[in-house]
Order: sequence, then structure tokens, then C-alpha cells
Amino acid sequence: MSPPASTLHDKLNQLRQRFIDQLPARLQQAATLWQQSRASAPAEARLAPELHRFFHSLKGTGRSLGFERIAMLADQGEEALTAATAPHDLEHTIPWLLQQLGEEQQRLQSQPGQRKALATLNSVEFSSNSTQVRNKRQRLIYLCDDEPDQVSQLLHHLRCFGHEVIHFEDTDAFFNAVLTRRPDAIIMDVQFPQGNTAGTETLTSLNKLTGERLSSIVLSAHGDFYSRLSAVRAGCNGYFTKPVKPLDLLLAVDELTAPPDDEPLRVLIVDDEPDIATYHALLLEEAGMVVHQVNHPADALRALDRFSPDLLLVDVYMPVCSGEELANIIRQQPEYVGLPIIYLSSETDSQKQLSAMTAGVEAFITKPVIPEELVSAVRLRAERLRLLRSLMTRDSMTGLFNHSTTTDLIGKTLSQAHRDNSQHAMAMIDIDHFKEVNDTHGHLAGDQVIITLARLLKTRLRASDIIGRYGGEEFVVLLKGINAERAAELIDELRNDFELVDFHAGGECFNCTFSAGISSFPDSPSTEALRLNADQALYLAKHQGRNKVAISTEPEYDRHQTSHQ
Ligand code: GH3
Ligand code: MG
Ligand code: MG
Repeated sequence: MSPPASTLHDKLNQLRQRFIDQLPARLQQAATLWQQSRASAPAEARLAPELHRFFHSLKGTGRSLGFERIAMLADQGEEALTAATAPHDLEHTIPWLLQQLGEEQQRLQSQPGQRKALATLNSVEFSSNSTQVRNKRQRLIYLCDDEPDQVSQLLHHLRCFGHEVIHFEDTDAFFNAVLTRRPDAIIMDVQFPQGNTAGTETLTSLNKLTGERLSSIVLSAHGDFYSRLSAVRAGCNGYFTKPVKPLDLLLAVDELTAPPDDEPLRVLIVDDEPDIATYHALLLEEAGMVVHQVNHPADALRALDRFSPDLLLVDVYMPVCSGEELANIIRQQPEYVGLPIIYLSSETDSQKQLSAMTAGVEAFITKPVIPEELVSAVRLRAERLRLLRSLMTRDSMTGLFNHSTTTDLIGKTLSQAHRDNSQHAMAMIDIDHFKEVNDTHGHLAGDQVIITLARLLKTRLRASDIIGRYGGEEFVVLLKGINAERAAELIDELRNDFELVDFHAGGECFNCTFSAGISSFPDSPSTEALRLNADQALYLAKHQGRNKVAISTEPEYDRHQTSHQ
């Protein structure tokens, strides 16, 4: 077995090697096809198309993988078949081409230097960190501060929102820690201009020593011009005067450390040539995308449903049905009307491209692709769809799923759960006495509370959980793969932390609480049953005095109602 591939270069070499290894078997198959086509008359009508397809796909793969001679010979084969009117026209050409291809295969196999071709094939350098997987929104933060009150307040808030925080009281320990393990952001209390400039000096020398500009936020007792200037000169990105409002600081940390996009783009490739599909998948994966490939058009619909891609990359020339026909099949289904489709083909015929466009195809890319062009064409269209989708499916204030999307997603999860007998829990969460919050502190402060709770849910729950804003100050969460008791524990931890978050409005500081009701599948066997039972448990929690999590005690409640649906 070959060793695990680490870089794009290695993976491409493996792909090329596999192509060469498998070529003799393919040539053998082609030779058989040719023999059969000669033997059975009228042969060309039935067998030549397969041979034609063989040469066509060999040309495409050969060219994409940088085997120019193979591509050229295959091209000659394709042209000869197209031009021929009877088998005897091809009597010499086809065997000769197959023989030449065989010799080229042997030459490549015996010549380890064939890999050098890759240098020209793939001249694009992709940034290597693009495939790095990041743990959602969790960041490593160094907090350099020696004021106990401020420290405990900041520690609580930063940790509450899922960040890993390490606290330092002296600059030496902090200095060494940065050199050993680089944080995503530094929060530093500095005391200047009255003498002690140790904080900014430390940052300046760390920036010099590491040759990087570390992301840092300064906390200071002074808000004057010169204090701010020295912070800017030390390369600081943010500046807060004390007393610091933790939620504002949290926002600044978010902005400073936000990854460009949390979710990698998803691309489905439909191509009957596994090698080409793998090659394109490698290029896209290297650019940070998640790619799934199917080699038979008939598998495309299932893959669309299961994989939910942001874009479909489809080969025009496939044996069972053309890319154009596949695009039509997909477009006829309402849920895929907006899915961007990019055609891939070795077709340069502009008339064919035009007719593809009328089938609702967004773009046409000619093989062999230029890696940069493929990546940017895919990215542009997939991101546009993402944006449109998120406008339709997300609540604009919190970024959580809106009501209807939440219900849809939960429905889908439950259909799967019926098949694989998994268990899930639903939590319905409602902010306590929220009307009072609005009345006392104003609507904007109320919004701040909603946004903060949404953020808490997003950062603390798993990426696979479904988190929705169900209505005003009400949230619904589907916690996947756990039972009601475990869900209640998790939500109770959040409840505990949320209670301690400080909100500020109009010079006043206040706190909020929430109550939650939990139901679970399969006790509640449908979305509606889950919702009713969670709602009923929530009512119980409110009734028991609020700031509580209650588990539904009446799973039977809805069985009667849903059983006859
Ligand atoms: P309970 O503890 O029983 O849940 O009491 P409550 O006051 O939270 O419940 P109620 O349903 O009476 O009030 C909810 C309030 O939430 C009323 C509504 O104006 C407010 N609200 C709904 N959506 C928003 C929003 O987007 N922003 C703000 N600021 N307030 C909202
Ligand atoms: Mg309410
Ligand atoms: Mg409420």
C-alpha cells in the first residue's frame, strides 16, 4: 500500500501513478471492443460508440493529468472514429494507436522521472493552511491582567462563550507562553502613561521576536490621545478604557479572530471518469472545500439529497446521460432550482456550450482545467448561493435558523432517526420576564440579550446540533444523539452561565435568565410531538419559578395525537 498522501503534490502523483497502473487493463478492454466491432456487422453502429467514449475519456484524463502524448494519441483515435464510415477505414489506425498507447504506458511506467511533468501541470501554489480544520469558534486567549475583580469577570465571560483562556499575572510568564504556544488573541491590561509601560513593551518585543503581528487588545485606565498612540505603536488592534464591558470585549475578540467563513463550501462532482473526478476533487479540497464525487449520473440525486452541496460540477460527456440531461433532471425539482451547476468538458464547441447554458447551467469550464480558474469559478458561484440561502433560511438578527428552516431540518433529522434508531433531544428555551427587560432597559438592550443568548448557544453546542430562533425570545435546539437527561444537563450548564452574564444599558448593569423544556425522540415520535412536549415542559419550568430546566413527563401526551397522522 502506498503511504498516506500529505500534500497536493503527493496526492497528484499517486493519482498519476494509479492512472498509469490501470492503463494496460483499459487498453486491453479497448482492444476487445475493437475485435468485437470488427467481427459483428453492422458493427460500428453498436460498438464504435463505446470505443469512441474510451478514446474521448482517455484524452480528457490524459490531458488533465499531464500525459500529453497519451492525450494526443487518444485524440487521434477519437477523430479517426468520427471520420470513419466503415470498419475497414480503421483497420490499421486503431491497432496502431492502441499499440502506441501501450508503448507510451510502458515508457511512463519504467521512467520514474515522469513525475516531473507535474511541475508544469500544476504551477499553482495553494495556501497550505486552507485545509486546516478549526474548532468552530473556540479561540485561545491570553489574558494578562493583575486586577482580581476585572480578571474574574472577564474570565467568566470569555469562558462562558467557549473560549480557552489562560490568565497571566506577570509579563515574563506571558512572554514565554507566547513563544511556546501562539494565542489567537491577547488581552492585556497596561498601565501608562504614568511610568509602567511593561505591557506595551512586551507586545512590541514579542511582535519583533516572532516576526508576526499578534492580535491584541489593550485595557487601560486612560483614554487620552498619547496613551492610545503608544498602544497603536505597539501594534494593538483594540483599545478599551476601564471599566470594561465584557460583552463589548467579546465582540472585539470575535472580530479580531473571525475566520473568513466557518463552513467550508461543499461541491458535488458528477463525472464518469473516476481519475478526473478525483483530480478535480483534489484541487478543490486543497482550496479548503469539501468534495463528494459520484461516477454514475444515476447516483447524483441521492448524493444531492444526502450531501447538500453548494454547487454541482458535472461532466458533459457521460455514457448514461449527458450533463445537459442531468442538469434538466435536477432543475425539474423545486428544491434544486437555485443550485449552481458548472459544466466540465473537453468540448470547445461554442454552440454546444450555448445549448448547455439554456439548460440552466451557470458556467462552462473546458478540460483540462486551469486549477486557479476552476477554484475561483466554483468559489464565486457557491458563495453566492450560500449568501442567498442564508438570507432565506436564517434569522438576520442572530444568524440562527429561522422558524421554518428549523422545523424542516428537525423533520429531516427525524426521518433519518426512524431509519437508524438514533435518539435526539429537543430543548425549547425562553427568556424569563423578557417583557420587563424591554420595559426597563429598552428594546435595544433586549435585542442585545437575544443576540447574546444566540451566541452562547452557537458557541457551546455542537456544530451538528440544530439551533433555531423560533420566535421573539424563544429558541429551539435539537441536540443530536443524546437523551433527555443528558440534554437537560447540558442546557442547565448554559442556564447557569447565562445567569452570570452582565448586560449594560443606560449606565445600569443587569442580568437575565432563561427557562427550558426538554423532550426527546423516540418518546416523542414527530417534530410536532417534540415541540408540544418541550413546550409543555417549558411551561412547567416557568410555573416552578423560572430560571429552570424541566424534562417532559408526558411523552404519551402526543402519541394519541400523532399516531393517526
Ligand atoms: P416569561 O418569563 O413568561 O417568558 O415572560 P416574558 O415577559 O418573557 O414573555 P412574554 O411572551 O410576555 O414577552 C415576550 C416579549 O419579548 C414581548 C416582546 O415584545 C419581546 N420581544 C419579542 N421579540 C423581540 C425582539 O426581537 N427584540 C426585543 N427587544 N424584544 C422582543
Ligand atoms: Mg415568550
Ligand atoms: Mg419569555
